[in-house]
Amino acid sequence: MQLTILGRYSPFPPPGGACPGYLVRSEGIPLLLDCGSGVVSRMQNFISMDQLRWVVLSHLHGDHSSDMAILRYAVDLDVRHGEDPTPVEVFSPDEPEEEFSRLSYKKAIAAHRVTEEDRLELGPFTVEFAETDHPLLCHAVRVRTSEHTLVYTGDTAYSCDLVDFARQADVLLAECSLPEEHAGYRGHMTASECGRMAEEAGVRRLLLTHFWPRADVEDLVQTARENCTGSSVHAAEEGRSYRLR
Ligand SMILES: [Zn+2]
Repeated sequence: MQLTILGRYSPFPPPGGACPGYLVRSEGIPLLLDCGSGVVSRMQNFISMDQLRWVVLSHLHGDHSSDMAILRYAVDLDVRHGEDPTPVEVFSPDEPEEEFSRLSYKKAIAAHRVTEEDRLELGPFTVEFAETDHPLLCHAVRVRTSEHTLVYTGDTAYSCDLVDFARQADVLLAECSLPEEHAGYRGHMTASECGRMAEEAGVRRLLLTHFWPRADVEDLVQTARENCTGSSVHAAEEGRSYRLR
């Protein structure tokens, strides 16, 4: 399994950056996790639009989903113009209802509601969900292949349930939104909490993401490392691909 970082910033991208979007590939088959501002453009550096069949959205805050309003045109007009389309399938929580209802588009995009009870089998991927601690219904997402496991926290505060969900993952892709002085602010994690989660879950590698555009990323990495001795800790780099080992 290979993980490519398309965007890592929230709640808005800095010049040249993008909001959350992560391309997972196995056996050459792609799965897109989240689709924030700038992701559709970046994705085409790695796959052609007609390869995309599945999108999983952690939640429907705009920084994680706004490019769905653009992806619809790419699928409808660019890829499948004049043909009987096979829709791109989107799996998402259904709150807010109004946002969820906007995901489906003509015959190009078909949206499906998912809950933490669901388990999807999508080509080589098994996809599972866990509700997180966030002001809007949000899922952490676990993607497994026969060989590897990736856990993406979505947006969340630190929680013991999520530690269990992430246990023994090869990569934990963790949102790292808050400066330490804002620890406990609802629905997000600090770098030290990301480190703690990786340590307690026994993951092999921790990748930090979901950065405030003006955050001192190196400082966040250092803080996470101080709380995590058992995993390698790095900042997710936009445009970079990570092979799970
Ligand atoms: Zn959010």
